[in-house]
Amino acid sequence: MYCVCKQHVELALDKFVDEYEDAPDMVNLKDTEFSDWDPPRQCDMCEEPAEFLVV
Ligand SMILES: [Zn+2]
Repeated sequence: MYCVCKQHVELALDKFVDEYEDAPDMVNLKDTEFSDWDPPRQCDMCEEPAEFLVV
């Protein structure tokens, strides 16, 4: 699973496919409320705020 900013979505999708050999789902963090989990606030690959979850 990756939490990434807009610039790193493509990279995260590539990495996900490499690592898990499965099609990733992309979740927009702004559109989603998690009742029992707080997503990381920061991109996994840079200092920008995370906007998408690749799962
Ligand atoms: Zn980033």
